[in-house]
Amino acid sequence: MAQADIALIGLAVMGQNIVLNMNDHGFVVCAFNRTVSKVHDFLNNEAKGTKVIGAESLEDMVSKLKKPRRIVLLVKAGQAVDDFIDKLVPLLEAGDIIIDGGNSEYRDTTRRCRSLEKKKLLFVGSGVSGGEEGARYGPSLMPGGHVAAWPHIKDIFQSIAAKVGTGEPCCDWVGDEGAGHFVKMVHNGIEYGDMQLICEAYHLMKDVLGMEHDEMAEEFNKWNKTELDSFLIEITANILKFRDPTGTHLLPQIRDSAGQKGTGKWTAISALEYGTPVTLIAGASLSVLSRMRGWWPAEPGRASGQSCGETRPSGTSEALYASKIISYAQGFMLLRQAAKEFGWSLNYGAIALMWRGGCIIRSVFLGKIGEAFDRDAELQNLLLDKFFSDAVHECQASWRRAVSVGVQQGIPMPCFTTALSFYDGYRHAMLPANLLQAQRDYFGAHTYELLSKPGQHVHTNWTGTG
Ligand code: NAP
Repeated sequence: MAQADIALIGLAVMGQNIVLNMNDHGFVVCAFNRTVSKVHDFLNNEAKGTKVIGAESLEDMVSKLKKPRRIVLLVKAGQAVDDFIDKLVPLLEAGDIIIDGGNSEYRDTTRRCRSLEKKKLLFVGSGVSGGEEGARYGPSLMPGGHVAAWPHIKDIFQSIAAKVGTGEPCCDWVGDEGAGHFVKMVHNGIEYGDMQLICEAYHLMKDVLGMEHDEMAEEFNKWNKTELDSFLIEITANILKFRDPTGTHLLPQIRDSAGQKGTGKWTAISALEYGTPVTLIAGASLSVLSRMRGWWPAEPGRASGQSCGETRPSGTSEALYASKIISYAQGFMLLRQAAKEFGWSLNYGAIALMWRGGCIIRSVFLGKIGEAFDRDAELQNLLLDKFFSDAVHECQASWRRAVSVGVQQGIPMPCFTTALSFYDGYRHAMLPANLLQAQRDYFGAHTYELLSKPGQHVHTNWTGTG
């Protein structure tokens, strides 16, 4: 007998927590997993005493669902998603909905949408952010795909999502086909950028200003009461002051080699594909790779920065804030370009609000981005909004000072420096690309455009005598 509101396939950490979250909000969930013994384990342990029901097979699961059937996949991204879709299709009927909540590549989501449309099934690719904790108590959800599915899943999605302000859910419809997964990908890229920027601030404070860990923790705590108020600043303060059982700070004992799962890299690849200068996220992804793959030596004896006895405050917080504004401006530029490429109609203000809670980049700052798009829904670039242009302008002198001091002291700051270069490029009336185009015309007759004759492409014989 049909009794479940929704089914979820994939009982690893994310799936289990989303099931329990949906149960808390009054929905009856039917749980299934490739390894069926995990369904029994889940029902007998984590889900004991809840309304969650289990299924022994996909057929059993489908028979227990109310119509239109709603089935969430939270399995390993890639082939596993296609395998489950192939097995589900013959069991479903027109109007049923398959939702992929994994970290799928947006092009796969577009392909799946198109193929299921031919079978009259609705497909949704939803970004899910916030990890295990978010999944359990309120993730940020970014659904996209067949919009006809939205009225059938909106209530469940917005109920289980994180809430901000006066209870607004961090979940709204993003757009067609792979738009939800594209937005999640950019979100992850921005997350890498935010983390790298904080690391660069830490590096400056530690090696240029010679600050102790407790002092730095104090400084980050102060920043968390300003426009930098965010989850990542808060946890950085906690990490900085954390001591191991011997009473020694733990952070300096951790090897300086970081990993990444790939979505930062995908953002950088998309930026190149769609010709958008998302330099900060690309810099953050590449700087992680440099140490991860051993491109740079990791011997303990390699050169390290020396304190130069700078007096504080150094402008580090301004460098961080201004660079962060540049990073988000770039991320939204990429979203705008992708919307143009794919014909998506993206609501940028709603996207900022989806990230305001439930996810790693949650911050007060995202509310300000939402307000900028409220003022002008067609805003071409965050740097054109008065609030953000004034904010960067006010930070400018301190930002330049922090970057100069860091450069003089030999501190690598790929994101602080690239953000500043981007800003300088953005505000310059004329860049030196005129010389580049002249060089191209010189060696390859690629032609150039004269400022006085826009649209006309001319060639000069640069080595000719007259
Ligand atoms: P996961 O480790 O990515 O995947 C495990 C689940 O996938 C299990 O249910 C497993 O079934 C199933 N699976 C693996 N290979 C399969 C195959 N070839 N065929 C069928 N099923 C297969 O689990 P997760 O960490 O909970 O993540 C689930 C999804 O959410 C992933 O796409 C992940 O990228 C995304 N995500 C994760 C996080 C996070 O913080 N972990 C955050 C956001 C999004 P068995 O039990 O039978 O092996």
